[in-house]
Amino acid sequence: MEEIKIFAPATVANLSCGFDVLGCCLESIGDEMLLRKNTTGEIRITKISGQELPMEADKNVAGVAVRALLKELNSQQGFDIEIYKKIKAGSGIGSSAASSAGAVFAVNKLLNEPFSPEELIPFAMEGERLASGNAHADNVAPALLGGFNLIRSYEPLEVIHLPTPQDLRMVILHPLIEVKTMDSRSIIRQSISLQKAVKQWGNLGAFVSALYSNDYDLLGRSLKDEIVEPVRSILIPFFDELKIIARESGALGFGISGSGPSVFAMCKGEASAKQTGAAIQKYYQEKEIDFDLHLSKIGNEGVKIIS
Ligand code: ADP
Repeated sequence: MEEIKIFAPATVANLSCGFDVLGCCLESIGDEMLLRKNTTGEIRITKISGQELPMEADKNVAGVAVRALLKELNSQQGFDIEIYKKIKAGSGIGSSAASSAGAVFAVNKLLNEPFSPEELIPFAMEGERLASGNAHADNVAPALLGGFNLIRSYEPLEVIHLPTPQDLRMVILHPLIEVKTMDSRSIIRQSISLQKAVKQWGNLGAFVSALYSNDYDLLGRSLKDEIVEPVRSILIPFFDELKIIARESGALGFGISGSGPSVFAMCKGEASAKQTGAAIQKYYQEKEIDFDLHLSKIGNEGVKIIS
């Protein structure tokens, strides 16, 4: 195989109760990428459409992630990378993770799969280190493995793939303002009270349990965050109002996607997702704030081969 075209999915990290350790994959939102072997021995970003992003391989997360993989193999193989961006950079739905995960997935296929999907995660994390200064896995793991993922430990890396209740739907509202991951990280406090920690690990444990037992009400009760959300939500226009509207429309829970500014509503069933999407959309239209709105199932596959 000389070339491969793939779909690289968007992802929602943190999911309120799991800052830096929980994330899920979206089915119908994502980029496309084409990777082709070349004979120059170089990693070249030969095309980017849809977004203004660095063409230099060492400044683009796709190039950095591929270099990390090839270094591990001691391989001199060159690749040309084309990126067709649909996910806006800095949106908070894993734009950088989609490129990192997509690139290592594709290169692994073109090299006859020397690595398992789990083994690709650390290479994709190198892309995240470039994008945000922090090699977090809560976007790249769900992008590579699909579904919900829990990062039990970073050292050593241990990722747990969790089940997906079939009726879950995600509504994503992306206010068209830019929030850099680095900025939204810098405002987070570095220490938390024991009282808040107790609530948070209670909710995270319950959330994981609810995924296994298909308990949608428990999922909703667990989607809470008293640690990061109160600080970060000030960067998102009308966050508190949107949350009330989403809950009144029947959403199970509502929170910040990754480092924002995108927000997500988790819903049970298509009808509930449509109703919630329409309600939050109407509110932003009235406030004259530009936005993108997406509805998606949870993507159980992660990165997919198109051709
Ligand atoms: P998101 O939370 O949506 O992933 P980030 O803020 O983490 O967004 O990452 C976007 C940053 O990564 C931007 O500074 C962007 O220039 C940089 N970047 C480098 N290469 C890519 C790429 N291929 N796709 C997306 N972002 C990239």
